Amino acid sequence: MGRFVDLTGQHFGRLTVIERAGSYRPHGKYGNHSEPLWRCLCDPERGGCGKETFVIAHNLKNGSTKSCGCLGAELAAERLGTYRKCKKKS
Ligand SMILES: [Zn+2]
Repeated sequence: MGRFVDLTGQHFGRLTVIERAGSYRPHGKYGNHSEPLWRCLCDPERGGCGKETFVIAHNLKNGSTKSCGCLGAELAAERLGTYRKCKKKS
């Protein structure tokens, strides 16, 4: 527990981890709890948009964050596009 895990250079979805960017300390009842925060590149070589984003280690490791946010937006757009296409077809 509490062991520092270096994620530098690792890939998570579209993200490539650039460097450690301090810690994220959520407010509230978990006052003493902190999560390592990582600066990540939404890597164009991996389909990303080239933006940088900060992600807590937990979200990288459990797969809940795989891009700077552009991935979710694109999937939503894709679904909308499919829906429109289907509608047009019929
Ligand atoms: Zn992106």
